[in-house]
Amino acid sequence: LLSDQSYRSWVEVDLDSFSWNWKELRRLVGPAVRVLQVVKADAYGHGAIEISHTALKNGAACLGVANADEGVQLRVSGITAPIVILSPSTGGEIREIIKYELTPSLSDLLFAADFQRHLEKAGVSAPVHIEIDTGMGRGGMLWDEAPAMIKKILGFPNILVEGLFSHFASSETCVDYNNQQGALFMKLIEKLSAEGIPIPLKHMANSGAILNYPQFYLDMVRPGLMSYGIHPAPQTEAKADLRPVMSFKTRVVLCKEFPKGASIGYNRTYFTDRPSRIATLPVGYGDGYGIILSNQGEVLIRGKRAPVVGRVSMDMVTIDVSSIPDCRIGDEAVLLGRQGEEEISANDIATRIGTISYDILCALGKRAPRIFL
Ligand code: PLP
Repeated sequence: LLSDQSYRSWVEVDLDSFSWNWKELRRLVGPAVRVLQVVKADAYGHGAIEISHTALKNGAACLGVANADEGVQLRVSGITAPIVILSPSTGGEIREIIKYELTPSLSDLLFAADFQRHLEKAGVSAPVHIEIDTGMGRGGMLWDEAPAMIKKILGFPNILVEGLFSHFASSETCVDYNNQQGALFMKLIEKLSAEGIPIPLKHMANSGAILNYPQFYLDMVRPGLMSYGIHPAPQTEAKADLRPVMSFKTRVVLCKEFPKGASIGYNRTYFTDRPSRIATLPVGYGDGYGIILSNQGEVLIRGKRAPVVGRVSMDMVTIDVSSIPDCRIGDEAVLLGRQGEEEISANDIATRIGTISYDILCALGKRAPRIFL
């Protein structure tokens, strides 16, 4: 009965797989290293609230978001664990940061001074993590300017410097640049400690570094991608057995026979080269299934691969199911994930269209409800 099928399309989030990946993470980093679970961008599209609760159950020490709004969403859901904002904040976010007890990262003195003023006015103190730019060229204070800036920040009476961190530019591949960045960070830590400035939490390792560089685990690691079951590069695959957490599924809503020479979809980018059976799926770029997958994507139906033909529309995708003659309205179609023996991974899709798995995960599930398994 078609009416029994409640979802038009849906994103399955397998929390058992997430916990499995956490076991692998623990196996690598050991029991003593703390873990900041990165849950920014709605936990890479997986659903930040549920992922955060599961990470905390698995022993996460704190959570990492990209901005104050993401932190507020977690606080409002009842999460009391420390929440670190990993990107530089704007002055306009300071009120929320203080009200919801979020931990900003400091990259410059202007923001630090503004934060201090607000804290003093509110009569409270707050922890911060200071970010050091060791070669990422993005967030953080420049390495050579850092000692002087850190000393100034230590002079702000309402700011408690709890953490010091840096970020690798290409940790997924084993290149000398990572060792250079790591060495600069270690040198700064040594310099501060020699001057009697101990900082409780030093952290640098994202997924690539967790898989490649045990020497940079330090006090805390910051996994994102690997906890969602995806390797940052083929070279890391032997290091951990990761299980993808997200699947994106829908159902066939139409199945039609076309003669040779029929055009399929907007702008007539595909013509059938033989009599063809074409299925329509009720998802499109409005759901995060990128238009770039037009005439390029693949979908799993009845355990077999079927190509996307024609242009991906905002709300529909057309699939050539000529090689699946038993394909019917109501059949489950898997756009990301496993069906029978076949699997379409985020890395497969990303490689096909020249992007990265992070981009695929964050885009999917914009409109589809998430079902937590
Ligand atoms: N730490 C910081 C500062 C980040 O910006 C990110 C994500 O971009 C991560 C950690 C997690 O990275 P990954 O998903 O590669 O583990």
